[in-house]
Amino acid sequence: MTALDTPGGLMARNRILAALPAPDRDRLAPHLVHVDLALGQVLYRPGGPVEHVYFPLTGVASIVTELEHGQVVEVATVGDEGMVGLSVFLGAGPPTERCSVQIEGEALRVGSDRFRELAAVLDGALQGMLQRYAQAMFTQLARNAACNRSHHIRERCARWLLMSADRTHSAEFPLTQEFLAQMLAVRRASVSEVAAALAEDGCISYRRGVITITDRARLEANACECYRVIRDTFAAAYPPVRERPEAG
Ligand SMILES: [Zn+2]
Repeated sequence: MTALDTPGGLMARNRILAALPAPDRDRLAPHLVHVDLALGQVLYRPGGPVEHVYFPLTGVASIVTELEHGQVVEVATVGDEGMVGLSVFLGAGPPTERCSVQIEGEALRVGSDRFRELAAVLDGALQGMLQRYAQAMFTQLARNAACNRSHHIRERCARWLLMSADRTHSAEFPLTQEFLAQMLAVRRASVSEVAAALAEDGCISYRRGVITITDRARLEANACECYRVIRDTFAAAYPPVRERPEAG
């Protein structure tokens, strides 16, 4: 057992890593490096190599599609439930999306080449876990497509804030309205209106670039069904966390 892999240690803070059996975690642990995820840091670009695979512990990475006329649309997010660089596991070619850090945090990182080697050796639980994660990501992508088209910006904004709070493990996190507008693919003025409406309803407060969720139940009541569907889909993808004894 390494320092990374202890009950309550760093590996336990990512749900994919936490779900692996102890021997698999022991094989992975020496190759994982604990890094900060800085706001705006690009983890991969369209056409570019995916140099590392990241297992976030806190914070949120955003996968966006950039359209030719410059519009940026968020298609999925990754937090402590997931892994950045699924294409490495799937053996796919260069990505067509950009992935960057949208709420700063921490991650465990491993080089993509090394991860491919490890994934080939750890062919049981890790493969199964990442296959279920890939399926849950597909649900998230499908939901986002329908949500962007059909659900009101206020519901989408509430959902986005709830998902971010879940991943930062905090009711308070830094977020600019400009960034939120980009994530929701709407004009900044629309975000200001919606944030003001949610604040007036007592769900959130917004001050100097920091969002605070002041009434979570109320915010959930404002969110569209997609929040619950995506949350439950990811929850069902993970087996119960395996307990292991403390090192003596
Ligand atoms: Zn929705």
